Amino acid sequence: MNMETTIIIGGGHAGGEAALSLRQGGYAGRIVLICEEHGLPYQRPPLSKAFLLAPEPEASLIRPAANFSKADIEIASGIGVQTIDRQARSVTLSDGSRLSWDHLIIATGSRPRQLALPDPITAQPTNLHYLRNLTDAQRLKGALQPDKKLLIIGGGYIGLEVASAAQSLGLQVTIIEAQERILSRVTAPEVSAFYQQVHQAAGIQMLTGVQITTVNFSSDGTAIRSVTLQNGDELPTDVVLAGIGAIPETGLAESAGLEVDNGILVNEFCQTSDPAIYAIGDCSNHPSKAYQRRIRLESVPNAVEQARVAAQSINGSPKPYESIPWFWSDQYDLKLQMVGLSQGYDQVVIRGNPEERSFAAFYFANDKLIAADCVSRPSEFGMIRKLVQAGTTASSAAALANIDVALKDLL
Ligand code: NAP
Repeated sequence: MNMETTIIIGGGHAGGEAALSLRQGGYAGRIVLICEEHGLPYQRPPLSKAFLLAPEPEASLIRPAANFSKADIEIASGIGVQTIDRQARSVTLSDGSRLSWDHLIIATGSRPRQLALPDPITAQPTNLHYLRNLTDAQRLKGALQPDKKLLIIGGGYIGLEVASAAQSLGLQVTIIEAQERILSRVTAPEVSAFYQQVHQAAGIQMLTGVQITTVNFSSDGTAIRSVTLQNGDELPTDVVLAGIGAIPETGLAESAGLEVDNGILVNEFCQTSDPAIYAIGDCSNHPSKAYQRRIRLESVPNAVEQARVAAQSINGSPKPYESIPWFWSDQYDLKLQMVGLSQGYDQVVIRGNPEERSFAAFYFANDKLIAADCVSRPSEFGMIRKLVQAGTTASSAAALANIDVALKDLL
């Protein structure tokens, strides 16, 4: 009998998928999934979209409970890991117990970046929200009441997706984005302009290139009543959502002496600087063959693929992680699907017509296709992923822009 134990720290998408993949790959030892939140691993993407709109929302599990029990995965739910002891190969838990491991997978995810508040304010204001987990989503949903003023700080994925839901729930929504345009780090100006116009047409006030200089509180200091901008304008508010980025949860790894630099550093097999310890998902930082640099990704596809890569390594059939990243975002009736990382592009080619709310943007660098954004063209996205994976050359640019040319003909 195999007496090995693999412990997975973190019951998010990455952790849950790693546990199931290990067993599917034939792992015969003990698998323990330690989840700080209560319950089984659930899907986070709906929390900023469908969950907020559903009359009686429920968490959607990443897989049915029966899959975990059939796979004989032990779930330690509502328990945190306090320390990792690499010498003794054990972890200590928040209930004081200690568990030994042969392989350890760290899947601790990321946490929302906190809004800077004035020094005397120590407690979180009652109307300030972040969105990361189910509890956050339940609390936010309760606050999204018709006719209330919702101020969203940050025009990233969280901000834009919640704006779209809140607008349809009848709130008056304002988005404040520090950059000159929304989604500026991930898309071309054409795509940002399209989404900005869509939000504004839906009635959302969008302020870009704007900094908050003062956060103003109610007289008892418990709630944010308004914010003052650098141009002196004061925006009153009932509810505030800060969606200003995420920070990888690397504390446990750092305390254990693992190498960390914007995430826990791993190799192409998701192994950390200690080969018996793996790190997957938002908290890990891996070498990308396609982009020839280290990257840290915050996305479900990355969590799932890294989980499989770590499980394959532990099961003795290592395969490197070489996928091109991809993402999606649902806002209003629009489906945005993105493949690749567009940073460093020097040419953008548009296929289709933004005015028809269905188009794609292709990003080239040094004559090579490095990324694409696809707005409501789901039937083309599979082929677009293949084109990016293949590193299509700029000689195809004119053909990509021509919707009469079938994408499969360009492969
Ligand atoms: P995000 O996508 O990084 O966007 C945050 C935006 O807020 C950035 O444009 C940022 O600008 C801006 N910002 C930062 N500080 C600000 C300030 N003080 N005032 C105004 N704007 C400010 O992060 P997020 O929307 O908070 O999302 C958090 C995490 O959830 C990410 O991991 C994201 O990928 C994930 N998520 C993903 C999806 C999806 O894939 N569909 C959906 C929801 C959430 P700078 O770039 O200059 O900092």
